[in-house]
Amino acid sequence: MTFPATATGQATRPFPETLIGDLAAEIAEHGYSLTRQQDALAVALPVGRIEAKVSGNDFEVLIAATDVGKIHEMREALLHLLDHAAPQLSDRMSWRGDLPSGIFPPNFRTARFISRERISPNFLRLTLRCEVASGLRGGGMHFRLAIPPKDRAPVWPRLDAGGRTVWPKGEDALHRPAYTFVEIDPDEGRFSFDLYLHEGGLATTWAMSARPGEEVGVAGPGGGDLPPGDFLLIAGDETALPAIRRILECSPAGRRGRVFVELGDPADRIEIAAPAGMQVTWLTRGEGPGLWDEVLAVPFPGADESRFVWIAAERDVARKARLHFRDGLGVPLEQTYISAYWTK
Ligand SMILES: Cc1cc2nc3c(=O)[nH]c(=O)nc-3n(C[C@H](O)[C@H](O)[C@H](O)COP(=O)(O)OP(=O)(O)OC[C@H]3O[C@@H](n4cnc5c(N)ncnc54)[C@H](O)[C@@H]3O)c2cc1C
Repeated sequence: MTFPATATGQATRPFPETLIGDLAAEIAEHGYSLTRQQDALAVALPVGRIEAKVSGNDFEVLIAATDVGKIHEMREALLHLLDHAAPQLSDRMSWRGDLPSGIFPPNFRTARFISRERISPNFLRLTLRCEVASGLRGGGMHFRLAIPPKDRAPVWPRLDAGGRTVWPKGEDALHRPAYTFVEIDPDEGRFSFDLYLHEGGLATTWAMSARPGEEVGVAGPGGGDLPPGDFLLIAGDETALPAIRRILECSPAGRRGRVFVELGDPADRIEIAAPAGMQVTWLTRGEGPGLWDEVLAVPFPGADESRFVWIAAERDVARKARLHFRDGLGVPLEQTYISAYWTK
């Protein structure tokens, strides 16, 4: 696949002899699949690809993506991993091509709080309006809020001279939980999302008290997109409910599968338009079989079928799911989305 935007980066020795191997290990550890040759590696994503190689005295990187915003995100992720594999090498890299300019990172904008509506006992639907309307659609179902510390003037992230994002630290640090878009009006820059109210949540406190016009940061879109597959096994809790609803509503009519949603309060159940072949089972936490037991009981199709497993819940469930599906059953990465949406 060819991508319209490209950027290249280069640095000259010294760097470790094991650079490509170390970088490959970092990439794999973060859950990306890659192809590897002696002195080169490549990572293919739906929105772009990264190639890195050692050629003579040079370390060279090519990033190709759908647009400058995705180039920026992929470069940020790569440089973050490179900082682990070869500390300080990223500072010596020179870059050219389709790179962001301006003050804010390309995937960041400020927004104003518009309204909140209680849609069920434990969920609020929040509506925000972005200062810059473009770029909310495409490239992922999710975004991150950037909530400034209470009673302080917000300090927003900036691009440094090398084009990397610098997030405010210390007393100005922003709280950045992830959420899932529900409705987007790209012309108006308005969007809504459903927030699960829980004990101790900074975002919960913000959501309950935000006043119309109050400013908040929005980074994205990003994260996972709608999964492929003729057969889907889906499991999640409250935090995954907005994404599960969207996946089911966007599923082709002939799709088959099993869907498990575990809630603490059955009164949070919602109507979901799912294909007839996708059986949705609601579970109540602490009563009857648990989410993980239900997932294990589903016979998962073999490698010769078009299949996908989508699981998003607390970190322990995600850990078990990775072990079971990827290590145990050998399901390839590209047939899985297994994500920790929150941590106990
Ligand atoms: C890709 C992605 C998409 C997501 N989409 C949504 C969404 O659409 N709607 C939504 O509500 N959430 C969603 N989440 C989950 C949400 O980001 C987390 O629950 C996040 O921790 C909430 O931030 P907070 O400020 O409320 O709590 P934090 O400050 O992160 O945590 C404070 C305390 O709350 C606890 N906590 C956090 N989440 C929960 C929970 N679900 N139940 C019980 N205790 C909890 C923590 O253990 C901690 O003790 C998503 C997460 C990801 C990664």
